[in-house]
Amino acid sequence: MTDPMIGVVAASEIAVGLVKGHQLAAPMRTFPERTDGAEPVENESDVHSMPMEAIAETIAQMIVDLCQEQIVAPAGVGIGFPGIIRNGVIEESPNLRQAKGARLAAMVGSALETAGLPLPVSLFNNADVTAAGMAATYGHLERLIRVWTLGHGVGFGRYPRAEGVWEGGHMVVTLDPKETYCGCGGRGHLEGIVGHRAMRLRFLDLEPEEIFANAQLQDPTLRDSRCVEFELLWHRALAAATASSIHMDGPGKFFLTGPNARFVRLNLLSRFLHEMVTMSPLQGSVFEIVLTNEEISIVGAAVNAALSTP
Ligand SMILES: [Zn+2]
Repeated sequence: MTDPMIGVVAASEIAVGLVKGHQLAAPMRTFPERTDGAEPVENESDVHSMPMEAIAETIAQMIVDLCQEQIVAPAGVGIGFPGIIRNGVIEESPNLRQAKGARLAAMVGSALETAGLPLPVSLFNNADVTAAGMAATYGHLERLIRVWTLGHGVGFGRYPRAEGVWEGGHMVVTLDPKETYCGCGGRGHLEGIVGHRAMRLRFLDLEPEEIFANAQLQDPTLRDSRCVEFELLWHRALAAATASSIHMDGPGKFFLTGPNARFVRLNLLSRFLHEMVTMSPLQGSVFEIVLTNEEISIVGAAVNAALSTP
């Protein structure tokens, strides 16, 4: 890998790191700044309300500060951002509306140039950089891996990255016309069943943690049939989208991550998947639940950028 590289992830906060040999070479920098040891705050933070010019300027300034502090001249910058990303442009980003159409790679590139640090800048989908970071961290850089990120929405990441849209979270998993909870407004989507926001819309009286806790109660007479049925639907939906990915792209390893990976029952998910994928050359996919963090995604952004920087 071209060393060192700068990796950036920008979502509810911006995090920037210097990456050498598939590892962070210095503590990452975050905006807004965190107090020691604190986790990023999941609310409408500053980044959600910032115009794209300010986001680009902030990223560039953080890179400049980091390079000055560490006295390094990196080979390039990789940025992970939520949404449909192609050729350095954010074509759509449902949770950061102001991002639609922004040429973020060019914006950060020109802000860096103005600051006297001209660098090639590459832009990627954030789930793809998570997949690349996991491939690098767990030594799977030679293999195809896929990642479901289960949170507010549902992200789908693939390593190695391939040209295309790959909006796996919006795969259609049901023909039921009443399934309208996806954040994008499309009917029957995976995210409309599995996403956190969608679960809250479906169960106005229960939080997602209460739904799964109820479905798991020891005494079956205390269980609410809505919760029990929904837990099955939730796993079937995730299995169905995984089966579609296998039918299009082959079998392999699927990592499950994000805050709602805690709801996954691996035995149930694997059983449903086996019912949906029966052709023998497509057997052998494995699910694994892993914790990821911004450090892993920063490494992934750098890995992907190194692969696309000449
Ligand atoms: Zn959708």
